[in-house]
Amino acid sequence: MHESGIAYDLYATARRAAVEHGADRVIRVSVEFGELAMVNPEQVRFLFSVMVEEDPLFAGTLLEIETVPPVMTCDCGHYSGTDRYVCPGCGGLPRMLQGREVLVRNIEIDVRDGDE
Ligand SMILES: [Zn+2]
Repeated sequence: MHESGIAYDLYATARRAAVEHGADRVIRVSVEFGELAMVNPEQVRFLFSVMVEEDPLFAGTLLEIETVPPVMTCDCGHYSGTDRYVCPGCGGLPRMLQGREVLVRNIEIDVRDGDE
């Protein structure tokens, strides 16, 4: 249950950002999953919604998940792209530059105005 750990990390990261900035509410959390991270986005979305259910900071928070294709490159210089796992130039295995990451790209919060 790799997804529950990820959902919890997203929740904890967003919550920490909100608390640090004295925010009233987390509006949106944008994340990027590499296709090869083998994460089921719908499951993360569901688990996240269950975790934040009782937290007023997360009332109506949008969780945006983008899945990005892997980026591969071969040291021989013949291949770089997103869809080959064997280099057409040398038959070697390209290195993965990205594809397994789970990244929080943006957290949008509603910060209370201290002067009011
Ligand atoms: Zn090659």
